[in-house]
Amino acid sequence: MSTKKHKFTLKDKFYMEIALDMTRSRHGLTGSNPSVGCVIVKNDKIISIGQTSFNGRPHAESNAINNSFEDLKGSKMYVTLEPCCHHGLTPPCTDLIIKSKISEVIYSVTDIDKRVSNKSFKILNSKKIIVKKGLLKKKIERFYHPYFFNRKKKLPYVTGKIAISKNNIIYSKYQKKITKIIQKNFKINNFKCFLSISDEKNYSIAFTIIQTS
Ligand SMILES: [Zn+2]
Repeated sequence: MSTKKHKFTLKDKFYMEIALDMTRSRHGLTGSNPSVGCVIVKNDKIISIGQTSFNGRPHAESNAINNSFEDLKGSKMYVTLEPCCHHGLTPPCTDLIIKSKISEVIYSVTDIDKRVSNKSFKILNSKKIIVKKGLLKKKIERFYHPYFFNRKKKLPYVTGKIAISKNNIIYSKYQKKITKIIQKNFKINNFKCFLSISDEKNYSIAFTIIQTS
């Protein structure tokens, strides 16, 4: 496995942006699997694209490989997340990549899934496929934040918007306070924040109220 930083061209960035756009367009529609986008390029021409299917299978790489009408030998694959290498309900994408004779794989973010994490890099590399990672990493890591959160904490990642009173409290219909501020005036990315909870005993629900003004 290589830990060195790989270098990328403007064209590489362009193709990865397309993969990211496809990933975003299927966000939340891929079941428990993360949404992934994949672009295959040969002689500077996009010859195939693929997204994670609805409900998670088949994977983006598999769809891109199967969608192609052209010979994939010597082509370059751009994919937002490290391809899988484990046998699940579908065969490993690394097997398909090797079989199709794709010569280079560029992925952005290393998968947090222990069955995959950096293993696919080694597998593909051992088959003389050029493998690079880290392209648009910050941007794509931001996109996968809910997926990483879910895998690490085994909890769903929920975002919400709530209305609060001027004093940063949430009231019920009957004017009863249903939250209590436990921490005020701390900052996240320069936004003024308040942390309030709805259940003091169990701390079962916590809200971070962010004020933008
Ligand atoms: Zn896969």
